[in-house]
Amino acid sequence: MRIFILSFLISLNSLNAQELSYYLPRDIQYNPSIPTPEKIIGHHVGEWHVTHDKLVNYMRAVDQSSDRITLTETGTTYEGRTQLVLIITSPANHSRLEQIRQEHLKLSNPDQSAPMNTSTMPSVIWIGCSIHGNESSGANASLLAAFYLAAAQGPAIDSLLNSTVILLDPSFNPDGLQRFSTWVNSNKSNTLVSDPNAREFNEVWPGGRFNHYLFDLNRDWLPAQHNESRNRLVVFHQWKPNILTDHHEMGTNASFFFQPGVSSRVNSNTPKRNQELTGEIATYHARYLDKIGSFYYTKEGYDDFYYGKGSTYPDINGGIGILFEQASSRGHVQESSNGMLTFPFTIRNQFTTMLSTLEAGRQMRKSLLEYQRDFYLNARKESAAFPIKGFVFGDPKDETKNAFLVNMLLRHQIDIYQVKSVINAGGKTFNPGSAYLVPTAQTQFKLIKSIFEKNTKFEDSLFYDISAWTLPLAMGIPYAEMNSWSPTQAGEKISQLPTKSYPLTKSNYAYVLDWSNYMAPAVLHNIQSKGLLTKVATSKFESRTGDSNQKFGYGDIVIPVQNQAKTPDEIHAILQSALEGSSVRIYPVQSGLSIGGIDIGSSSILPIRKPSVMVFSGNGTSPTDVGEIWHLMDQRFKIPASLVEVEQFNRIDAGKYNVIVMSSGNYQALSKAGQDKLREWVSGGGTLIAIEDAVQYLASNGFTKVLFKKDGFTEDSMATKPYELRNDDRRALDMPGSIFEARLELTHPLTYGYDQPLISVFKSNTLFMDRNNSPYNSPVQLTEKPLQSGYLHKRFEKMAPNSASVNIDALGRGRVISMTENPNFRAFWFGTNRLLLNAIFFGAIIDAK
Ligand SMILES: [Zn+2]
Repeated sequence: MRIFILSFLISLNSLNAQELSYYLPRDIQYNPSIPTPEKIIGHHVGEWHVTHDKLVNYMRAVDQSSDRITLTETGTTYEGRTQLVLIITSPANHSRLEQIRQEHLKLSNPDQSAPMNTSTMPSVIWIGCSIHGNESSGANASLLAAFYLAAAQGPAIDSLLNSTVILLDPSFNPDGLQRFSTWVNSNKSNTLVSDPNAREFNEVWPGGRFNHYLFDLNRDWLPAQHNESRNRLVVFHQWKPNILTDHHEMGTNASFFFQPGVSSRVNSNTPKRNQELTGEIATYHARYLDKIGSFYYTKEGYDDFYYGKGSTYPDINGGIGILFEQASSRGHVQESSNGMLTFPFTIRNQFTTMLSTLEAGRQMRKSLLEYQRDFYLNARKESAAFPIKGFVFGDPKDETKNAFLVNMLLRHQIDIYQVKSVINAGGKTFNPGSAYLVPTAQTQFKLIKSIFEKNTKFEDSLFYDISAWTLPLAMGIPYAEMNSWSPTQAGEKISQLPTKSYPLTKSNYAYVLDWSNYMAPAVLHNIQSKGLLTKVATSKFESRTGDSNQKFGYGDIVIPVQNQAKTPDEIHAILQSALEGSSVRIYPVQSGLSIGGIDIGSSSILPIRKPSVMVFSGNGTSPTDVGEIWHLMDQRFKIPASLVEVEQFNRIDAGKYNVIVMSSGNYQALSKAGQDKLREWVSGGGTLIAIEDAVQYLASNGFTKVLFKKDGFTEDSMATKPYELRNDDRRALDMPGSIFEARLELTHPLTYGYDQPLISVFKSNTLFMDRNNSPYNSPVQLTEKPLQSGYLHKRFEKMAPNSASVNIDALGRGRVISMTENPNFRAFWFGTNRLLLNAIFFGAIIDAK
């Protein structure tokens, strides 16, 4: 093919330098048969913000025109957008790509890694862009990376492509990128406006940072509750990259950041060698950025503690994760304290550090590959010395939650076995059929340790993100450590946990729905939607069901067969279809006369209403908290919830709803009239559920009698402290997220479905409530020594014990349910979701006098 030098018109004095020559290495030849980005997307890189669809079009075009590239579609987002990865390497490597991959994976397997000859193996480098959709310089830079890697000619690129396999993921968050690009392009002026006040730089709620359900995908690598993460993890473990980059943006007045970051805030499960290599890679970025005159910093601000982030997840998987943060122009050009910040400038820094990363990946190839091998060899040694030989878990009453945890662990390539014979450990009994064993002597030992361990001692007191995430506690699943186990206790290795389903025999009298399964609310809502009358048991009873006796408890749902608008056959069919795809159980009951406890006709079995739910959203509410509620209702439970803007509340017919949820937020946008309307709505019989600081809003506006504990701390007025430490001192008072033990009052409607009195709640604020005036309506309270895992500043140590996590107040004929802990944290705190669902379904029956 004919190769010529593109004529580069250098226009560096123009503010909006968008020509390719502004970005690309000069003095090399580019293959003219590779289309430039503007040829496919219709504008120069940096002239507009690339939309996700155009980005995909370009990646398809370079894939078609280059024998260095293979495009793999990895899945789709909630909004149906394509996720893709370009695999880029030399044509020779492409011809034996599967062999390269298989050999590369052997480095992560201590049984196979020893004979591997790293001197001939390529390193694997993953370039990842814009997981926060409104930090789009990374995704826009990926256009340049794809063009450069496909089109550059000469010995340097040949050497790079021979010695590396590059995985280019141009957009970690397609839905967010699309939302942001639409906003910023539609507010762009022809004569560029750089005034930070302009609409272009100030997105409306919720902004493009998040995915469809308003989740921060850069916290979801570990919980992996979203399509985007699940699809990405499949490719991650297919390749186990040596370096994975995570290109972000930060405040407009900053410069550029790349890791290593703050060394005292690195998770102790990450080997020291990881930080040394990160430091060595950093010298490449420094050199490349020095050359173009860009400022940067490397040892402040960001940390590598929580393994749910893109820059940290590789660190616990034998690789090196690297965070990049570019000062954001947010729009096309913005005034900043460092002068005019142009969008092309931000793109150029991201692209330049993509190149420096690749060069580091090429030159450090051998040390990166050997580090990966050593990581797993050392992990084996560490697991041999580790006193815990296995973790056993399983909730005998909730197969759904067990399946969620099993499948979550499987996504991280953790080996799990069925429990074959009874295990007694940690004072608990685990039975075959509902218990699972995770041996610690396995490849993913270090990840397992970080998932199951509890930690309350830390080298540093500042956290960029949460300080604890012990998964079985989050799921509310009983678990125990085992110091030994015998092979007779471990059964079959699990590849996936399918949902069991239970047949339903017809009854002409009544049915009882077991409320203990996680998915029971979905089944109940489905049944209610078909127009059937449903009731809830507020007391225990035992009935004959078929040929056995069954004990029922608080919260089990009674569905009468007579006096319904449907025939017994129709009712049977409705229930059967509601159960489909779940492991929830419904039992047929033939007689109202119970064997024990109350009878079916008792007035302690109360009718319940079908919830009609509104969730406040918009200005002043937390997008992620609103999104967590939306995702929970919509994706998990198929319950419609109307997200209504706070400002709009005054104009709507609130009588359509019987439940309103206020997520964390300041609610300043709720006018006086809106507030009065809300009060009137509750007084008329509504259930108002407030979470985190919404609790404070309602308390200070007279909706509840909630009182908060005071820390009683007084600053020594004569003390002098180093000025330099002022920010760290203030930040140490934050609680980024820790796990607390709470005690449930198990006969209260808010705790229906739980059968153990202790649960773990996730707390990321320092609001501690006193218990309510009524002895009956603080059904969830922190225990005497509540901190289970994570960081708590000593100032709050006295406030936490015995504080109320949930309080319920009556207001007129309605109820206000105040929850200071977020029951839906990041879609993986399964253990407390039920508190919210109980509030939604049973709020109206709570006697809160
Ligand atoms: Zn970011």
